[in-house]
Amino acid sequence: MVAPSALVLHCDTCGDVPHRVLRGKVSGKDEVIFEGVVKCSKCEQVRSVMTREPRPIQVPIVVSFLEKSERTALEFSPDEEVDVGQELELGDTRLRITAIEVQGRRLEGALAKEVSTLWAKRTDRVRVKFSVNMGNRTVPHDVLAIPDEEFEVGDIVDLGKARAIVHHIRTAHRTVHEGRVRADEIVRMYGRVVRERTSR
Ligand SMILES: [Zn+2]
Repeated sequence: MVAPSALVLHCDTCGDVPHRVLRGKVSGKDEVIFEGVVKCSKCEQVRSVMTREPRPIQVPIVVSFLEKSERTALEFSPDEEVDVGQELELGDTRLRITAIEVQGRRLEGALAKEVSTLWAKRTDRVRVKFSVNMGNRTVPHDVLAIPDEEFEVGDIVDLGKARAIVHHIRTAHRTVHEGRVRADEIVRMYGRVVRERTSR
């Protein structure tokens, strides 16, 4: 096994900070054991260390986004705690755990090594429902947005083939006829299609 080029380790002077690995080796079967010489990135002290940590495990995870679910796996330290509501990162997407299955039962929390399947929802994108009046009919559209992106009454939204102007925005508590609302607070936006100019 190849030794990492840097490790976050505890330095008595600087706390938990990255250390550059000057030389070292990694061994172990159930544990990952690192032995080597490291240099603190802050105070530059050089010292020998040995660290051991449990080998990470792959936990199956079902990630849902819009109507699709995807089965994949996520790496955890075996004794790491997972909880419903916890935020995780998978590549460059963000997730929130929505359910934890342990031996056929749904639990609110468990250790990673006990988990048979995790369920999660993508939280870095939300779907904003947008009802667009096309003159004689109203057509539902889904607009993808990042959760803290804001929509404002009067905004022109690109729907691919058409563009529509936001007329009012409904949230769980009120209807907004003026001003802006965060994407993750929007229940539905209402608007009408805008006539396209044929030239720029
Ligand atoms: Zn230090």
